[in-house]
Amino acid sequence: MSKAFAAKPLSVWGTPFALLALALGATAITYAATQSAYWMLAAAIIAAAAYLAGVAHLSRRLDPNGELRSDFDGLSELPNRRALHRDFNAFHKDGQEMAMALIDLDSFKQVNDHYGHFVGDELIRKCADMISETCNGEGQSYRLGGDEFAILMFGPASATIVEGICRKIISQLEKPVAINNREVVVGASIGLARSTGVDDLSSSELLRRSDVAMYASKRAGKMRCTWFSEGLDRNREAVLEMDEELRRALINDEFVMHYQPLVDAETREIVAVESLIRWVRPDGEQIGPHIFIPIAEESGLINAIGLWVLRQACTDALQWDGIMLSVNISAAQLRNPEFPIQMGHILEETGFPAEQLELEITETCLVLDPIVAERNLEVIRGFGVNVSLDDFGTGYASIGFLRQFRFEKLKLDRSLVVDAETDEGSRAMMLSSITVARALKMGVAAEGVETQEQADLVRTAGCDQIQGWLYYKAMPASEIFQFLPSNEKDDLAVNLAETRGAA
Ligand code: C2E
Ligand code: MG
Ligand code: MG
Repeated sequence: MSKAFAAKPLSVWGTPFALLALALGATAITYAATQSAYWMLAAAIIAAAAYLAGVAHLSRRLDPNGELRSDFDGLSELPNRRALHRDFNAFHKDGQEMAMALIDLDSFKQVNDHYGHFVGDELIRKCADMISETCNGEGQSYRLGGDEFAILMFGPASATIVEGICRKIISQLEKPVAINNREVVVGASIGLARSTGVDDLSSSELLRRSDVAMYASKRAGKMRCTWFSEGLDRNREAVLEMDEELRRALINDEFVMHYQPLVDAETREIVAVESLIRWVRPDGEQIGPHIFIPIAEESGLINAIGLWVLRQACTDALQWDGIMLSVNISAAQLRNPEFPIQMGHILEETGFPAEQLELEITETCLVLDPIVAERNLEVIRGFGVNVSLDDFGTGYASIGFLRQFRFEKLKLDRSLVVDAETDEGSRAMMLSSITVARALKMGVAAEGVETQEQADLVRTAGCDQIQGWLYYKAMPASEIFQFLPSNEKDDLAVNLAETRGAA
């Protein structure tokens, strides 16, 4: 298979580089002739080796006329997009199975931004080598541009073989890539598409399908392979449509904020509220954030939505004295270097006290781009704003992670609380997380508490705050006031809340 794709041997006689190599060789030989026979021989060998290496190197870059090849990527030394279409047309046969993989590096832009283009280029070269080596002659690799690579393979079982290659590529990228004494962390999202050879797919269509599948991998959390399916195509259309609708929703003021209280584990008094966005469409349908936030994150619209949330929540919370306001922040927002400044402007504009604001971030924010995230968090903390780690227990955040990034608060995810009720391992993890958080002087909150048993469990385990439907559901700003401790209707409110929560 690899032979079919091998670069044609190309003549480079006549190119200026080859002449230069010859001239250098001749000089070395002449110089050596004035020394001794051994030296002369050695110099001749060195000159010949240098020349052959030059020819081998240049033959990949130049066409038979000595012009730079237009189907070759100079940085990675891989064939390019043009070559992929050419190879497809040259080698595909009716009735022959074929498979294509599109590999997109995750976080490559961040590597370029933080370490500079030199490291970025080196990373591309290393990834290109790794991908070619992993193909091991079974498929041909290409660099399509930027941080995108492709693999093309023809023949029986090519779909299975290409998928195997892609899985190996992902596991290789689980380890950091060493570049100039740095450990660069980069991942990959891979889309796969196949053709039976009788479906008459063109190379452009196969590439488009792998692209759709690659985006599905990104949306599903990156570092995975996804096969194209018709369903993905329909899904993509729906996503594009929703993105358009979200843009209109922002202009037409269709978002509303709800607030869910957090209570003190002992007194059950409200000590904080968490702002949770809702989208009320013109037809009255209410859409939850878990549906539209991932789409807004993908398109970048989350930056504008996030600022709207922050401004609205700070404005609403100005009237609730003495309690903290928690605002959820997406990974994309924390990666945005302008975010801390924009947040500073909103605090100034609304007059909301920074020390009463708490940002809820998830570990994804920190894992994907720890350098910018840490830098942004430093500025944010400089304002006096607290940072809490949301959804702890759902991903890979470990206890070591808590030591690395100091948070003011740890929020145990509902799944950990639910599992801890029945599963020894989850209970042990919950207890040890609380112990570490305490030792690091972090507060601990448990979220999603629905039953009295769960509340007792997390209270005994040492949580300071509890959030969940047992106490309060999320509600519009206008309803919060009546439940606040400073309110005279306090007792009535607590009773009312428990009735509401239990309902
Ligand atoms: P989260 O920050 O972990 O919020 C907790 C979610 O659990 C909320 O869902 C809340 O309504 C729900 N919940 C609270 N108590 C209980 C309970 O006792 N039982 C159960 N089953 N669920 C409970 P919601 O409002 O649908 O939000 C989902 C996620 O969307 C949030 O998870 C957060 O990650 C994200 N989100 C919400 N608002 C925003 C926002 O303004 N910006 C960003 N970036 N993300 C947001
Ligand atoms: Mg949250
Ligand atoms: Mg949460």
